[in-house]
Amino acid sequence: MSLTDKKNPMELTFTCPEMGGYFNCSGFRISDNRGIVTDEDGNRTMDAEVELEEPCPLCGGIHKYHISEIACPFRAFNG
Ligand SMILES: [Zn+2]
Repeated sequence: MSLTDKKNPMELTFTCPEMGGYFNCSGFRISDNRGIVTDEDGNRTMDAEVELEEPCPLCGGIHKYHISEIACPFRAFNG
């Protein structure tokens, strides 16, 4: 165990826009967090962006996603 090995406790699944593949990564951070917004239908979603802190294992790039692009625990799963 290293003190510098500080990671988010959860992994999210990301899509690589370059290679079109999926990968799991826990090295990310929330950026541009504009909080919870309510859309026209009354659905509450989180308006934020997620930025990788580690290079994509597929293409080596640092990707940035809108939170709505990620199958993630920040929003409720619908069936
Ligand atoms: Zn990539």
